[in-house]
Amino acid sequence: MSTVEKPLPDLSDPVTAPFWAATREGRLTVPRSTVCGYRLWPPEAVCPECLQPGFAWEEVEPAGTLWSYATYHRALDPAFAGDLPYVVGLVELSCGLKMYGIMRGDPGDMAIGRAVTAVFEPVNDDVTFVRWQLV
Ligand SMILES: [Zn+2]
Repeated sequence: MSTVEKPLPDLSDPVTAPFWAATREGRLTVPRSTVCGYRLWPPEAVCPECLQPGFAWEEVEPAGTLWSYATYHRALDPAFAGDLPYVVGLVELSCGLKMYGIMRGDPGDMAIGRAVTAVFEPVNDDVTFVRWQLV
């Protein structure tokens, strides 16, 4: 059995903290520039469209389609060795943004274009990860 702990996000990072606050509540959110309205993922300190800081976090539908995926047979991080094989998917959200995430379910069932939904998995009182599963 592996005793290596999985890496956790830095909750003190102001760029991503709102995302983790929302996932704790089972909500999926993305930043939207308060200057030009551009939505982006992953979060950045400055909007890539208007080059201004300042974002409001919008709740988006925790659903989309599997745009691409890769099945891992070797763990790049030893903390994930016990999960092999596992699938990392690139999910195209209903709002149009694409978000990477670990897929739940049988790797053999994955197929590009299949509908997916988010699963909120708490790992402790502060961190809830978003995973994805086929609908
Ligand atoms: Zn902008």
